[in-house]
Amino acid sequence: MTTSPQSEGVLSFEKARQCVLDYSRQIAPPPTEDVSLLAACGRVLGEPVLADRDFPPFPRSTRDGYAARSADLTAVPAALRLVGQVKAGGSFDREVGAGEAVEIMTGAAVPDGADAVVMLEYTAQRETQNGKEVEVQRAASQGENIVPAGAEARRGQEILPRGVRLEPAQIAMAAGAGRSKLTVYRQPHVAILSTGDELVELAKVPGPTQIRNSNSYSLAAQVQAYGGEPMRLPVAPDEPRKLSSLIQAGLSADMLVISGGVSMGKFDLVEPVLRRIGAEFFFTGALIQPGRPVVFGQVEFSGGRNGSSRVRRPRDPGPMAKHKVRALRKIPFFGLPGNPISAMVCFDLFARPVLDALAGAAPARLPAAKAKLRKPVKTKTGLTRFLPAILEGGLEDPEVEAVAWQGSGDLLASARANCYLVVPPDRESIVAGEMVSILMR
Ligand code: AMP
Ligand code: MG
Repeated sequence: MTTSPQSEGVLSFEKARQCVLDYSRQIAPPPTEDVSLLAACGRVLGEPVLADRDFPPFPRSTRDGYAARSADLTAVPAALRLVGQVKAGGSFDREVGAGEAVEIMTGAAVPDGADAVVMLEYTAQRETQNGKEVEVQRAASQGENIVPAGAEARRGQEILPRGVRLEPAQIAMAAGAGRSKLTVYRQPHVAILSTGDELVELAKVPGPTQIRNSNSYSLAAQVQAYGGEPMRLPVAPDEPRKLSSLIQAGLSADMLVISGGVSMGKFDLVEPVLRRIGAEFFFTGALIQPGRPVVFGQVEFSGGRNGSSRVRRPRDPGPMAKHKVRALRKIPFFGLPGNPISAMVCFDLFARPVLDALAGAAPARLPAAKAKLRKPVKTKTGLTRFLPAILEGGLEDPEVEAVAWQGSGDLLASARANCYLVVPPDRESIVAGEMVSILMR
C-alpha cells in the first residue's frame, strides 16, 4: 500500500466511509488454504468454483404433470395416449411421439420428443379400451415448465467467483458441483487493545470506580462474526511507554483495533503514541454520533506476522533497510472511542470494510433499510447520528423506535436494540410517521 486515501482531519460520515473503502480497495488478498465444505461457511472463496457439468444436467421438469409435444397441446381439450412414467432420477427409454404423453414428476428429466409439461392440475386420467388416456384441459406452449439443460450454467463456467463470502446458498452451489473441499482465504488476525487505567479484566472484581473491559469482548465478537480471528491483548494503562509497547505487539496482526484514549482528555494518549512510532493518519475524527473521535491510519511494521514486533519510522529506514529480506508491511489501525456503543458503531461503519478486504472479500455494503418512525426524534444538526433503535413490524409495516439511552456508554440500551436509526446531519427533528433510514446490525 503506497497511497494515502485521504489527508488527515475530521471528515463527514460519507467522506470517512469513502476513505476506508478507498483504502480497502488497495489491499491485496491473503494467502489461501483448503478446508472442508462446511468449514468454508462464512469464509471467503480463494479460487473460483467451476461447474463440473451442465446445470441442470438434463431438461428438468419444474412440475408434476405430463410431458408431451406442445404441437399436441394447442387445441384443448386434447386427449393423449399415456405411454409411460418418469420419476426424478429416472429416465424414459424412447422418444415421446405425436399424440403421446408421459407422466412426469418434479425434478425428473423431460424425455426426448417432449417439449412441454402440463401441470397435473389441468389434466384428468382415464382408462380406455386401448389403455390409459390423459385429457389435457389447458394449452401448453413450447418449453413450458421445463428448465433446459445448461440454462443455469454450462459445464466449465465459473459459478462462484473468487472473493465471494460463502453463505449457505454458496455452500449449496459448491455441493451441487461436487466440491467436498474449497480453497478459501486465510482469516485475518485482528489485534484488539483496550486502553484505560479504569479497566479490569473479567477475572478480577472491579473496585468501586473501575469498569470491566467489555469492549475487548464486543470487538472480538465483531471480528469473529465478520470472519477474522481476534487476538485480545492485555489492557493498556494510560501511560505512554506501556501503551506504546502493547501497540507494537498488536502490529504483528493484520489489523489493530484500539479502544479508548482517542478523545481530547489529558490521558488520551493513543494518537500521540501512534505518531511517535511513525503512524500515518487518514482521518482523526468523523462527524458522527456516537463515535466522533474515531481515528484511522496505518503504521509500517517490519516484523513477521505474529512475530517479534518492530516499528520503523517511514523516513528513518535505518542502515540495514536495503538488506532486509522481509518487506515492510503497513498495518491498518483504528482508534475507537472507549464508550461501548461508540466502539461498536465505529467498528461496523469503518473497521469492517478493511476487515473484509483483509479477508479477501469486497467490502460488504452497509445493511441499510427504511422503516416508519414510531416516536419523534429531536437532536442537533451537524453530525450523522446512529441511535440504538428497535425495529419491529412485518414485511409491509416495518416500524422503528430509538431506545431510551443514557448516552454512548449505555450497554443495556445497545443490548436491547437490534438496529441503528440514522439521523442525517441536517435534521434537527423527525416527526413520527416519517420513513427513516436504519442500519441493521
Ligand atoms: P475513553 O474513550 O478512553 O475516554 O473512554 C470513554 C468511556 O468509555 C469511559 O467512561 C470508559 O470507562 C469507557 N471505556 C473505555 N474503554 C472501555 C472498555 N474497554 N470497556 C468498557 N468501557 C470502556
Ligand atoms: Mg480512557
